[in-house]
Amino acid sequence: MDQQKLLSLLMQDEYVSGAWISRQLGVTRAGIWKAIESLRAQGCQIESAHRRGYRLVPPENAVWPSCIRKYLRTKWVGQRIDYYDTIDSTNLAARQLGQLSAALAPHGTLIVADEQTQGRGRINRTWQSKPGDAALMSLLLRPEACLPPESVCFVMISALAVCDVCRSFGADAAIKWPNDIVCGGKKICGMLLDMSIEMDYIHCAVVGVGLNIAGYPYADDLRHASCLNEVTGKALNRAEVIARFLEEFERWYDRWAVGGVDALLPDYCARCVTIGSRVQVVGLKETFEGEALRVTPDGSLLVRRDDGAEIPVHAGDVSVRGVMGYA
Ligand code: ATP
Repeated sequence: MDQQKLLSLLMQDEYVSGAWISRQLGVTRAGIWKAIESLRAQGCQIESAHRRGYRLVPPENAVWPSCIRKYLRTKWVGQRIDYYDTIDSTNLAARQLGQLSAALAPHGTLIVADEQTQGRGRINRTWQSKPGDAALMSLLLRPEACLPPESVCFVMISALAVCDVCRSFGADAAIKWPNDIVCGGKKICGMLLDMSIEMDYIHCAVVGVGLNIAGYPYADDLRHASCLNEVTGKALNRAEVIARFLEEFERWYDRWAVGGVDALLPDYCARCVTIGSRVQVVGLKETFEGEALRVTPDGSLLVRRDDGAEIPVHAGDVSVRGVMGYA
């Protein structure tokens, strides 16, 4: 029997029944019992309870589906949750799932990992994280009749959701346009949107989130990083933070599904520290400074250059830095 598959089924819920596992794996219940005994012999802590089934005891601060589901109260986000100890990139895995049918990988499927070996950021940048530190996750979205330019809303939804979750845990969080979350000028979260387009419509979209919770890597280029525990002075449970994020994401997404970008923009702008700041826009061809005026409904940042020209800056190809610091 595939032990890895058995383990991932055991990680799905706090208790999983032998009957359910045997259906999933096409193995008799006696076969399951034997396989569980073999896992126990290898050191896995698996409890069994009458009528409830087996419980694989998670290590502290694990981000297994069972740990997330303990806190999760959503209608459609996180119906399917796939967990990896290590993965190249959760966005890549979610994109692959996007090729399956919606019955197998429904709208709101979550991929979560403890470690990424090829975590990516915008413009081919890398996202770095050590095991145990972060919430590294991607949501697969299957929006209905949604055109590619509207995809900017998924980044807004995600930014609003992360910002509100961080605030709910006591962090003074804000959005740095377009898709970073900062606390006291330090970056605690980055996001990355991937899309697959068919016949001019979005077939599926993937929103990746890297949220530093317990720690972050120390590196010269990460001098502006921080994490939720550092800014709140708390020792937060990663699975709880993820579950709360999923709830907030669902709330903002449902709001967008009814009211479109107008239902997001005022709240996005109210949380955006970039607006009203003096910024440096670093593009591939040119760099300029100016005052960030507002975010427009297509997600661009309108910047007034020193010569008075108002330039719409698109998120795809620029970095924006505060002139007085990172944010
Ligand atoms: P920025 O304005 O910070 O360059 P960005 O939106 O262009 O942000 P992202 O796609 O969010 O970039 O993320 C990639 C960048 O984030 C990397 O270039 C690196 O500077 C920074 N970074 C990488 N890992 C982390 C981390 N764990 N915590 C904070 N920052 C990180």
